[in-house]
Amino acid sequence: MPPTFTHEFNNASFKGKSFLETGVFIDGKFADGSDKTTIDVINPTTGKVLCEVAEATPKDVDLAVKAAQKAFDTVWGLKAPADRRGIVMNKLADLMEAHLDELAALEALDNGKPFSWAKMTDVNPAIGTIRYFAGWADKIQGKQIPSGEEKLAYTRHEPMGVVGQIIPWNFPLLMLTWKIGPALATGNTIVMKCSEFTPLTALFMCRLSVQAGFPPGVFNLLVGYGETVGAAISSHMDIQKVAFTGSTIVGRKITEAAAKSNLKSVTLELGGKSPNIIFDDCEMEQATNWATFGIFWNQGQVCCAGTRVFVHAKIYDEFLQKFTEKIKNLKVGDPFDNANYQGAQVSQQQYDVPSTVFYSEHFSIDSFCMLQRIMGYIQSGKSEGATCHIGGERHGTEGYFIQPTIFTDCKPDMKIVREEIFGPVGVVIKFDDDEDVIRQANDTTYGLASAIFSQDLNRAINTANRLHAGTVWINSINTADFRVPFGGYKQSGIGRESGEYALNNYTNIKAVHVNLGTKMI
Ligand code: NAD
Repeated sequence: MPPTFTHEFNNASFKGKSFLETGVFIDGKFADGSDKTTIDVINPTTGKVLCEVAEATPKDVDLAVKAAQKAFDTVWGLKAPADRRGIVMNKLADLMEAHLDELAALEALDNGKPFSWAKMTDVNPAIGTIRYFAGWADKIQGKQIPSGEEKLAYTRHEPMGVVGQIIPWNFPLLMLTWKIGPALATGNTIVMKCSEFTPLTALFMCRLSVQAGFPPGVFNLLVGYGETVGAAISSHMDIQKVAFTGSTIVGRKITEAAAKSNLKSVTLELGGKSPNIIFDDCEMEQATNWATFGIFWNQGQVCCAGTRVFVHAKIYDEFLQKFTEKIKNLKVGDPFDNANYQGAQVSQQQYDVPSTVFYSEHFSIDSFCMLQRIMGYIQSGKSEGATCHIGGERHGTEGYFIQPTIFTDCKPDMKIVREEIFGPVGVVIKFDDDEDVIRQANDTTYGLASAIFSQDLNRAINTANRLHAGTVWINSINTADFRVPFGGYKQSGIGRESGEYALNNYTNIKAVHVNLGTKMI
């Protein structure tokens, strides 16, 4: 199916080029979806249709699983030399590097994020992720376990088989690489569903996977809705594992579907409401710079965003004044204008107030209710009595742009303090006691990340030890690293992505006992 772009790319190198295939990608080939229906991809900066892509259905999930199983049994998994996996993965990384600008432009068009950020904080780390895991491909090894003179006991770390992967729209390419990196390195084959809102870079990656030399069926990609394709993946009897990044409510549904089908293993990277603790001995310029990045990078659509900023009473006024100056200087607008720090929110659904939320038959009432609506949260902050210190309105007249927004004078039970907004909205809360701020920071159902700003490393590390979160940053925030594990405590997830720890999600451990003696029993 040829792409039907209606948007003129700002980046001259794209004009008039037909470079993207938009079908379902199964067994190394693009095709129409089995129902021959399509999904409109919307440009968040205008609200207009950018292109249409083939809609996958549960029938396509079955076809993709069959292709992935065949590839696992014949050309990948335990059938391919381990270093071959690393070689094609490195080739994929080289191709991504050669197409860095196209990938960043597609991400900016599809998601609304600034092109310059997309290059730096999406595509570059995505390439690094694939290279990092390519290096692991021939280093997946078990242990020999001492167990007496007459016995050899050892473990093998074997691939699981066909794995399902479901990813969100906030970092479409980066999340794809976080998922496929460890899965491919350990020898699994993949049926992935990307977000129906942001399929373009994933589709581009399919073409690159063919050029890189992945055997057909190793990587299959479907664009479809959660309630149909996502649910079919989670409940499929021949998928051995599902890895998911997205909201906590959908993570719960996926766990239920896995439990009710074949008890497949589940890893989840979910939401957060991360605290950012600014102590009175912080370096002020550093703290205000990072606090700004902590909330407004990627339009606030970051699972580990530091949206609860706790500031020590002694420096509260100075911090708020400097923080406000920085926020006033943030430019919002066209993702292809390098002066802009903040682009558009991804979709009407994320942007809107509840009364005008776009309703689709593809959303159950549950998922309809859970859709975060940023303007709705801003309204709720105002009506619950918080002070809208800066921002609080839409930016411009078209597209889904929102002013960087900060609330002060908040109470602990307000929705804007407790719930994940997933937009450019933060709360600033005053504290005057270290014990109390640790209690407040931990007072959340989430546990994804947290940050501390202090020049006193003893104070910072002692606080870090007591925070209930999978990541603690000291004197920085929101910096993921593909070498370092990432994941949540509490309702922020199960398992870890990135780093060596991610490999554990994708192998079965087999223990082999060999009797070397003459014992009969
Ligand atoms: P979402 O949960 O609505 O959707 C995520 C994916 O799940 C999409 O592909 C969607 O189509 C699919 N899905 C929806 N319903 C499904 C169902 N019933 N069964 C199977 N799949 C289904 O989340 P989103 O709105 O795309 O992303 C935002 C959320 O993701 C936020 O809560 C954010 O915190 C979280 N997130 C977490 C991380 C992390 O690493 N912890 C990273 C990025 C985003």
